[in-house]
Amino acid sequence: MKIPFVDLRAQYDHIKPEIDAAIASVIADSAFVGGYENRYVRNFEEAFADYLKAVHCIGCANGTDSIEILLKAMNIGPGDEVIVPAHSWISTSEAVTTVGARPVFVDTHPDYYTLDARLIEASITPRTKAIIAVHLYGLAAEMDEILAVARKHRLRVLEDCAQAHGAEYKGTKVGTLGDAASFSFFPGKNLGAYGDAGCMVTKDPELARRARMLANHGQLAKHNHVIEGRNSRLDGLQAAVLGVKLKHLPQWTALRRKHAQRYDSLLAPLGVHTPSAPAYSSHVYHLYVVQFVNREMVQRDLSQAGISTGVHYPKALPFLTAYANHKHAPEDFPVAARHMDRVLSLPMYPELTAEQIESVVSAVAAAVGG
Ligand SMILES: *Cc1c(COP(=O)(O)O)cnc(C)c1O
Repeated sequence: MKIPFVDLRAQYDHIKPEIDAAIASVIADSAFVGGYENRYVRNFEEAFADYLKAVHCIGCANGTDSIEILLKAMNIGPGDEVIVPAHSWISTSEAVTTVGARPVFVDTHPDYYTLDARLIEASITPRTKAIIAVHLYGLAAEMDEILAVARKHRLRVLEDCAQAHGAEYKGTKVGTLGDAASFSFFPGKNLGAYGDAGCMVTKDPELARRARMLANHGQLAKHNHVIEGRNSRLDGLQAAVLGVKLKHLPQWTALRRKHAQRYDSLLAPLGVHTPSAPAYSSHVYHLYVVQFVNREMVQRDLSQAGISTGVHYPKALPFLTAYANHKHAPEDFPVAARHMDRVLSLPMYPELTAEQIESVVSAVAAAVGG
């Protein structure tokens, strides 16, 4: 049985009439480009804000721009430092560098894969301006601890929610806990567009105003360029697709959780290191990540059995060539260094069937047993 890592085609098959109608409607209206007057974009921004119980939601071109624009809106730039987790997708640190600031890496929590809140304080300097908390794999970071350190040192907190649409921390949806939050709607995310897309969320009206201007050439009304910005708009087709998919997101999230529980219960007896889901969290399992000491071998065996897996990520950020100038050694980030050699993401998507899950588990059993 061939099992893909994600199956966007299966998802489309379930919602085809709704998607096709939404796309046809945008085309009929020629409502292609985002901005202040596109009703598809505005409708999605409002619907997503409602879903999160957030105040302001501003669409933009992708989830990397959203981090960068929010940092800019916070006036973070040259001479500043921003704390980021050692283990994330490169966008998190890349956006810091793009605004002219310096990313300062902090090691991963040994159980949760998110930023280890206990280690933040030791990395704060007089130049530190913000902390980016990434809710990696769909699990909320330790927000109370992160917000407490931030308050004590007067730092901004930006949540990178690219992998955590709908995840909760103590009953509150992530994206509404810090000063601002960034979402990606890359097609493979839990809420994915049919191309690149992203958004920014905040309850701070001034931050929202600046972010909206920065994403659209510094204007809030046509030809009134208050500042210089850029072109990073959410377009009408993507907004319409996202609007359709958002209605299905709660059900898709419930299915991801159900699949994760099934994996947990079948894999734990095999001695496999399954994901932690601490009591404070409601995990949305963007990725279902397990660990193996002999990861390469298990991945190869699964691949031979027709099962696609992923590694998120094979090199922690401080060890990438892009950050060679930071001159970090594995012992600077022992947990991230260990995880990067062991983590393996198993197939995870709402449309996964019980039979597929059992095939993945059998293949894992064969790989670890033999
Ligand atoms: C996907 C992702 C991003 C960036 O999203 P894009 O829309 O691809 O630019 C940022 N941070 C994390 C943790 C991600 O997984």
